[in-house]
Amino acid sequence: MTDSVVIAGGGLGASRLAENLRGNGFTAPITILSAESHPPYDRPPLSKSVLTADDGRTDLKAPDFYAESGIELRLDTRVVAVDPAAHHVVTEHGGQRTEVPYGTLVLATGLAPRPFPGDGADLAGVHMIRTYDDAVALRDEIGAAQRAVVIGAGFIGCEAAASLTTRGVDVTVIEPAPAPLAAALGEEIGGFVGRLHKEAGAAIRTGTGVTRLLGGDGRVSGVELDDRTVLPADLVVVGIGGYPDLAYLEGSGIEIADRPEGGGIACDERGRTGAPDVYAVGDAANWADAQGNRRRVEHWNHTVEQAVLVAAQIAEHPLPAPTVPYFWSDQYDLKVQLLGSPRAGDEVHVVDDDGRKFLAYYSRDGILTGVVGAGRVGKLMKTRPHLLIETPIADLLT
Ligand SMILES: Cc1cc2nc3c(=O)[nH]c(=O)nc-3n(C[C@H](O)[C@H](O)[C@H](O)COP(=O)(O)OP(=O)(O)OC[C@H]3O[C@@H](n4cnc5c(N)ncnc54)[C@H](O)[C@@H]3O)c2cc1C
Repeated sequence: MTDSVVIAGGGLGASRLAENLRGNGFTAPITILSAESHPPYDRPPLSKSVLTADDGRTDLKAPDFYAESGIELRLDTRVVAVDPAAHHVVTEHGGQRTEVPYGTLVLATGLAPRPFPGDGADLAGVHMIRTYDDAVALRDEIGAAQRAVVIGAGFIGCEAAASLTTRGVDVTVIEPAPAPLAAALGEEIGGFVGRLHKEAGAAIRTGTGVTRLLGGDGRVSGVELDDRTVLPADLVVVGIGGYPDLAYLEGSGIEIADRPEGGGIACDERGRTGAPDVYAVGDAANWADAQGNRRRVEHWNHTVEQAVLVAAQIAEHPLPAPTVPYFWSDQYDLKVQLLGSPRAGDEVHVVDDDGRKFLAYYSRDGILTGVVGAGRVGKLMKTRPHLLIETPIADLLT
């Protein structure tokens, strides 16, 4: 067994990996190297309860957990290079560089938010949400805001729109695709989510993009759309996704997946990179499936399951049984949930729709590939066993 584990990154993947290693009886040193100044915290509340309530930090573990578990947590410590041949990483902390040796290295460095690419991205009042500090900076401005524009109707954009609307701000969401969440859920189901926003009073403008952000005295005052329309705004939330910032892997020889395959750190179906004793988990990792197809996934459950699987391998424990991919998003009072791995072009079968809450199946070549619902938690979870095996969609529609 390895004599030490070093984890690059200090978020969900890092915390769950360390916790599972100790849970599996792994007693050798574990070190978490985190670029952040906060101990590992949970990100889903950042676009939800942290914006709507004065919630404190959403720590993943109690403050004493790491010390009590013999896990060294080095904060404000960025990994800037990896040398697999020498089995060490180089960190930067307070302007000082240090070599940290490892027996096994796990890369769990997540994503950096993609900034607005046009003019005005630096104006005050323009926000992104990736860190706790980002969310608090946005929350601090909501009280004084009257009109907000959210750029991008992906999950984080939709959740930010719901939170701002709930706080009484007049919100317009701008999305170039034909419907919110169209890339993840398809146009029809994305339209169902869009109607939740309209009902709550948020405007959604699809099929158009933002060309630039306008401002005076250094503060945002509006956004200009593709057709030159200007929407006044005293707050802008940029929710156009994130990317794995892997500059620290340059020269390491560790393979980065091609962009059409999702980018990120290329791994096999158990999270092993091509470098000996180096794994990757979470949003930055791109694991192959059993057929060798690559997919990078940016979901909480996915990260936890990868951390559990990698911890079992490192601690030489039996591997956990395969599970069904799962994602949730809270918008207004409803939980939107997706089970399975539907792909663009899958057939959609709406089986329950009361104008607000809904449930739908996805299928490909007659086989169930996923289930999506809003406000239908029990019914959705009941379909889970059908996704562990090949289930003909016809069996569920009769
Ligand atoms: C606002 C928001 C809302 C979300 N809501 C949901 C949701 O409702 N449902 C859901 O399923 N998922 C949700 N997610 C996604 C989920 O939080 C992520 O999938 C999960 O956090 C990924 O874990 P991770 O460990 O890969 O990355 P992260 O949790 O992002 O942690 C990565 C850490 O690595 C650090 N780091 C980066 N580079 C370096 C470096 N070179 N050296 C050292 N440290 C470094 C970062 O600072 C960060 O602390 C949400 C994400 C966000 C941002």
